[in-house]
Amino acid sequence: MKKFCLISLFFYICSTPLFSQDFPKIFGCFCEGGVILGKIKKDDSIKIGNKKLDIFDNGEFIFAFGRKHKSEVIISYNDVKKTYVVKKKKYKIERISGLPRGKVEPSKKDLERIRVDQKKIINSKKIGELEKIFDEKFVMPVEGRLTGFFGSQRILNDKPKRPHYGVDIAQKQGSPIIAPSSGKVKLVANNMFFTGNTVILDHGLGLISIFAHMDEIIVDEGQYVQISEKIGSVGMTGRATGPHLHWGIYLNDTPVDPLTILNSSFF
Ligand SMILES: [Zn+2]
Repeated sequence: MKKFCLISLFFYICSTPLFSQDFPKIFGCFCEGGVILGKIKKDDSIKIGNKKLDIFDNGEFIFAFGRKHKSEVIISYNDVKKTYVVKKKKYKIERISGLPRGKVEPSKKDLERIRVDQKKIINSKKIGELEKIFDEKFVMPVEGRLTGFFGSQRILNDKPKRPHYGVDIAQKQGSPIIAPSSGKVKLVANNMFFTGNTVILDHGLGLISIFAHMDEIIVDEGQYVQISEKIGSVGMTGRATGPHLHWGIYLNDTPVDPLTILNSSFF
């Protein structure tokens, strides 16, 4: 009987999560539009809800919470489960008037151009660099007045449109734009219908930044840039009512909030 108890106790200790590996430290923001990052062993398993996350070669995993996300998630690390609260955000309604009619209701010919632009952008959002290139902290690519926020419902010339996925920073034409974090230039495109002169930076692990309405672009596709290195200047190319930078961040297809990323620390 005594032996049996000892064996049961042994199995109890070995199988109880408290005595298995520690739960990994997770960086970033548990909030709508936030990104979380952690590191485990390559053979470990990590799930968010029922979604098994990819584990990169050096053990990193990354996940983004969309604009509307349920307020709680369960993360399973091997067999250990933990519940996290995902903070909700309030989204504004932004009305912008005075845009040229053709930029809000594109012609058939323009729709074809938009389709070609979109294809390039979608391709650039596909995972490229499999290593983390981004830094512990992001910096603002341009200092200026914020005129547009992530997730706002947009009404352009009285027509309800898709939510705004990025931040708009108003600044004088020609002001320098710097890389908010290190990355590899994935796309340089001039004169896109909506985004004008556009750059996409790949920060690694599927995280990308898009810079729109630029004036000058001084980087080339395939080039690596360091955090704070100049990539071009502020303009008003594409669909814009004045000179500003539109800065968007995506993790694969999920738009994330650049202002939340700025407040996150990934180390
Ligand atoms: Zn914008």
